[in-house]
Amino acid sequence: MRASERRNNLLNQVVGQQALKQRLLRSVHNNRVPHAQLFLGNLGHGGLALALAYARLLTCSNPGQDDACGECSSCRKHDSFIHPDLHFTFPFPSSSGDVSSDLYGPWREQLLASPYFGYEQWMRHLGSENKQGNIPIKECRALIKNLSLKPFEAARKVLIMWLPEYLGQEGNVLLKLMEEPPAGTVFLLVAEQSERILNTILSRTQTMRIPPLEIGDVAEALEREGHSSDVAQRAAQLCQGDYSRALQLTQQVQSPYFESWRGFLGNAYTRKMDQIALWAEETGNLGREGMKAYMHYGMALLRSAFLHEFVDQRPEWSAQEAEFLDKFLNLNVEISSMQGMMDLLESSLYEIERNGNPKMVLTTLGYGMADKIRNGGGQRQP
Ligand SMILES: [Zn+2]
Repeated sequence: MRASERRNNLLNQVVGQQALKQRLLRSVHNNRVPHAQLFLGNLGHGGLALALAYARLLTCSNPGQDDACGECSSCRKHDSFIHPDLHFTFPFPSSSGDVSSDLYGPWREQLLASPYFGYEQWMRHLGSENKQGNIPIKECRALIKNLSLKPFEAARKVLIMWLPEYLGQEGNVLLKLMEEPPAGTVFLLVAEQSERILNTILSRTQTMRIPPLEIGDVAEALEREGHSSDVAQRAAQLCQGDYSRALQLTQQVQSPYFESWRGFLGNAYTRKMDQIALWAEETGNLGREGMKAYMHYGMALLRSAFLHEFVDQRPEWSAQEAEFLDKFLNLNVEISSMQGMMDLLESSLYEIERNGNPKMVLTTLGYGMADKIRNGGGQRQP
């Protein structure tokens, strides 16, 4: 199924949170929608998913007892987040644009992929990992202007402000708007840390706390996404009620890269250079994004082996991976060699991200790893 067909933002597709869903539905059916609400909790608990589904419900022209209709013209626009009465504000680096709407393209892509993501992931999606995101004064002024217009199509106009923690003092220009909002305007703020939100903004919202998800709800959602029931159960038990974390765990639990890494590290240890050349050839065909994921997985695997020297706990790995890590540890690779290997992986990833030739990067990596894994780069004491 393509992401755009998934309609993540219907209420019944939001993971768990039954009590909150009922509360949101009641507010619509009783026509008692607070004009400013704060969805507060770890982002992996689903605050944004709830806000998106609620926004759809608020503008649906034919809402049912349990959800928006999913079929009306408003709902169809919500499928791809293009409803003209649905506004978004979120942090972004000043180098990427002046106002949030400059970034609606990448923002919608991110929402369509999944509404369970955090600030870091968003900044990575913008290619701005190392820059500071912010909700600037220009964005606040644009909001005041846009929200003072009448709704285009629906009876209501909804603003979803994601991470109001990134509003600086200049966010105070929004106070008047929040205090006397134009008729039919609903503010939905999605935040993680209330202590980092301007007090003046905070005091004008009604807070809805988003608790961690139940294990059963996470497992069920993961199975719906196509994961096997034991992978889903395992990830649900380890994720601490955080669906973003659960999604990451399922990737680790059943990584498609494990066999390849096991083979490569084995060949590096036994110095089978012809096998390493073959591995570089094959792996180099993964494509840039595939290569990045491949490298991240290998780094997570080695980091785990590295940390195991100090912490005897690797809950995120499958039985096969844990068994491999135990064998790897029995090789008694020195700490300095481990560090050397991690450095090699980091620099290879860096090269790949900067369009280095994949096969050359991997060949260099392969030879370097074979060197480090056996003798710590020649620094072992006699
Ligand atoms: Zn509808």
